[in-house]
Amino acid sequence: MIQPALAPVGAELVAEIQRLKREMNAVILAHYYQDDSIQDQADFIGDSLQLARQAATTSAEVIVFCGVHFMAETAKLLNPAKLVLLPDLLAGCSLSESCPADRFKAFVDARPGHVVITYVNSSAAVKALSDICCTSSNACAVVRSIPASTPIIFAPDQFLGDWVSRETGRPLVLWQGSCEVHENFSQNAIVRLQGEHPGIITLVHPECPLAVRALADVVGSTSQLLDAVRTGKRDGSYLVVTEPGIIHQMRKAAPGATFVMAPAEVGGSQIGSCSHCNTCPHMRRNTLEKLYWCLRNRAPEVRIDPAIAERARLPIERMIAIG
Ligand code: SF4
Repeated sequence: MIQPALAPVGAELVAEIQRLKREMNAVILAHYYQDDSIQDQADFIGDSLQLARQAATTSAEVIVFCGVHFMAETAKLLNPAKLVLLPDLLAGCSLSESCPADRFKAFVDARPGHVVITYVNSSAAVKALSDICCTSSNACAVVRSIPASTPIIFAPDQFLGDWVSRETGRPLVLWQGSCEVHENFSQNAIVRLQGEHPGIITLVHPECPLAVRALADVVGSTSQLLDAVRTGKRDGSYLVVTEPGIIHQMRKAAPGATFVMAPAEVGGSQIGSCSHCNTCPHMRRNTLEKLYWCLRNRAPEVRIDPAIAERARLPIERMIAIG
């Protein structure tokens, strides 16, 4: 009987990933919400905007995207001739899935004359219905780039849209989507933790509801929250109200600081360990072993219907041009 091949383990697994990557002329891009072990193998770690920029400029022949499907799709849209791999093709996103293309088309068609701004956390089919994309890093800049007299549809995240509307003073027609991670942080637990840790700096992602954002010292995208730590108190305490994968890079940026993970609505929080934190189940589908098999098998590959890709590329390119 032929035994199935096994992935190597430990240091050998890491060495094989790096060897295969070099052999294939591949680049590994990893989102901040990936497991620490994957972040440590990446050539570049970033948020959606930073990773899209990397994907747009890489000279590597193969892009291995350690993130979720819509991110790898964006990389493929920007590199139609390249092989784009995702370690687990089922790594989806509740926010993207909250905006099906057929329903979104009806929503847009019912509002003629609106400019359609779509957060990158959406499918290629939804991007194809959009005028320009944005990420949480540049959403305000993208909205400000539209003439004040032009009405705007903003999709799919209602909470990010609400935050952008308040920041820019622009009314936005919001699609009522949300992220299952960011909409579910416990307001009560955050208040309790702030009481238990006087002086703690509360960092909140704008995909959180208004009641949670109101408790923040800093509201910003993942990279902006990381910058707040880089430029903040080196020995400070930070309450992190976003996916806790980012804490790996925060600890590297400020090794003397203390990081407290905000819990989801049900559960508690532990300093220095994560027994009830709010991890994204989709991001965490990728593992080091799946990364190895993906490199070794040159699969699974991300593919996009060429007709959709043709229309979805322009809104991303417009976003990258705005910065
Ligand atoms: Fe989607 Fe997970 Fe990101 Fe939420 S944290 S927007 S579910 S990928």
